[in-house]
Amino acid sequence: MPVLVMKFGGTSVATLDRIKRAAKRVGVEVAKGYDVIVIVSAMSGETNKLVGFVNDTSQLYDAREYDAVVSSGENVTAGLMALTLQEMDVPARSWQGWQVPLQTNSAHSAARIEAIPTDNINAKFAEGMKVAVVAGFQGISPEGRITTLGRGGSDTTAVAFAAAFGAERCDIYTDVDGIYTTDPRIASKARKLDKIAFEEMLELASLGAKVLQTRSVELAMRFKVKLRVLSSFEEMDDAAGTMVCDEEEIVESKAVNGVAYSRDEAKMTLISVADRPGIAAAIFGPLSEAGVNVDMIVQNISEEGRTDMTFSCPTDQVARAEKAMADAKAAGDINFHDLVADTDVAKISIVGIGMRSHAGVAAKMFATLRDEGINIKVITTSEIKVSVLIDRKYMELAVQSLHDAFELEKA
Ligand code: ASP
Ligand code: MG
Repeated sequence: MPVLVMKFGGTSVATLDRIKRAAKRVGVEVAKGYDVIVIVSAMSGETNKLVGFVNDTSQLYDAREYDAVVSSGENVTAGLMALTLQEMDVPARSWQGWQVPLQTNSAHSAARIEAIPTDNINAKFAEGMKVAVVAGFQGISPEGRITTLGRGGSDTTAVAFAAAFGAERCDIYTDVDGIYTTDPRIASKARKLDKIAFEEMLELASLGAKVLQTRSVELAMRFKVKLRVLSSFEEMDDAAGTMVCDEEEIVESKAVNGVAYSRDEAKMTLISVADRPGIAAAIFGPLSEAGVNVDMIVQNISEEGRTDMTFSCPTDQVARAEKAMADAKAAGDINFHDLVADTDVAKISIVGIGMRSHAGVAAKMFATLRDEGINIKVITTSEIKVSVLIDRKYMELAVQSLHDAFELEKA
């Protein structure tokens, strides 16, 4: 039997009614002849509540117990989904991560999947079971402790199962009907994409589009899993949602397919550091050790052996970055005149695989921002992305005008 993976996010299993609706969809796929692996999230809000319990109990909590607590939301929905399917006369059984067993490393709260043996579940399919319901987000470490895969991790569970079982497709059911050219709450002309390339989705996910966990996209790209994002609140339709696929399957790509933004970015500038070999290592080494996620980096032209170094990081890491730099200065590893933090900035990015073959994309972005009177503070580019830092108050305007300039409302 061909295997299909169907993943239901928190809003799709938020109540018993919604679990029933999700189960009906599963029933339809079973009737088509699939063996279905259903991956469930916890009911929406549940994981946040559990994380809150842990934080309120212990500030410097033991990560193994954090995982024991926060993984439990998925156990409830897995059992309920299996029961609901049984009530519909669909032979179903639930699995917690350790029962599969979904093997991970020991990096508690951010574990990586190492193996998914298929024999347990396949033996049940062979006996006539039609649906394996698996609790998402959780696994078991080599030490035999429960682990979790990081917030949003059941997307990654779903893709990993699709790869392990050679599934025909991995359908991610959520509360939006697909991937959009930009956030429809900001640009009303945002358009749902029928297809998006893995690499574009990867950029959008890491830029903060919350629909898919970044690692799930990496995995899907590596194992060529056909991934579809669709809403569990709309009528069933085989063409619904957005397919995340290989770029070869996208015949003709526009230069730009998406505009992303990140509201909570800070621009940090080290004023007057010595321009000498090793200075970048002396700055960014301690930042990375302090757990600061540096994104953009710009080093200015130096004058008389001194230069300014600018980088961006999430706003909530500014204090950590300041401390790391002050410590490095106190230790004599670096010397700078001042560290200036600008926390009123936003990052705007345009993304598209077509950039590889279209010239002038960055120039068009800069001209569009110029026409709106928006000053660009920092620029970075990759093969399929251009990002700029601008004043946060222009964020919406920048997203809308770029969406217009690249005609993203048109297919
Ligand atoms: N329940 C987990 C979370 O909220 C995992 C998931 O839903 O993907 O992060
Ligand atoms: Mg999610």
